[in-house]
Amino acid sequence: MIAAVAAGTALLGAAAHGVWHRNSPVFGPVLARLPGSEPVVSITFDDGPNPRATPAILDVLRRENVRATFFVLGRHAERWPELVDRVRADGHQVGNHGYFHRKLHRHSPAYVRDDLTRGTAAIVAASGWTPRHFRAPHGFRSPWVTPIAASLGQRTVGWSLGVWDSARPGARAIAARALDGMHAGSILLLHDGDGYDPDGDRMQTAEALPAIIDGLRGRGFRFTTLPD
Ligand SMILES: [Zn+2]
Repeated sequence: MIAAVAAGTALLGAAAHGVWHRNSPVFGPVLARLPGSEPVVSITFDDGPNPRATPAILDVLRRENVRATFFVLGRHAERWPELVDRVRADGHQVGNHGYFHRKLHRHSPAYVRDDLTRGTAAIVAASGWTPRHFRAPHGFRSPWVTPIAASLGQRTVGWSLGVWDSARPGARAIAARALDGMHAGSILLLHDGDGYDPDGDRMQTAEALPAIIDGLRGRGFRFTTLPD
């Protein structure tokens, strides 16, 4: 009896961990850091495109000759398809972040498949590119999210460092947190858009980016996109 309760509790614990933790393997494999021990890092941006921050961020990346990954939101891509096209044209990776930015662990397999499919279609329509990576909104997954992404040819990606840039703590704080937390193989989560407000202000992130790139280069890091 006690063993059964303990086993049940452990199972619940595993399920909760799988739902809530962006990098948990319980609900399918997630890329949480870069493979190998080279001093390389990946910068990723979620929730765009955004009419102000995305062009500003692309300008910085072009000037610094850095390639990054953008997890684009379908409904924002439909509004600013030319920005998604520019992300691709500038040589960055475009990943799928779904369409509506709902918390997917609360939704049925049919809903999740529809959201991921619509997000993919918006990226294809904007840029001609079929995404090969998927990141769940907030990292929240259920048992079917990662398999559905895989069925669309998309590898599920988490992150190893978030710096809460979306709370707008100031560009200096964003840069300091990013530099403090980065290690070889880190995947840094930043935001060029707002998952809920299409016109949300992400200019602090754009302003922090030069200091992040300079600081990481000063510590010997190189930049790479995500492996397929
Ligand atoms: Zn998001």
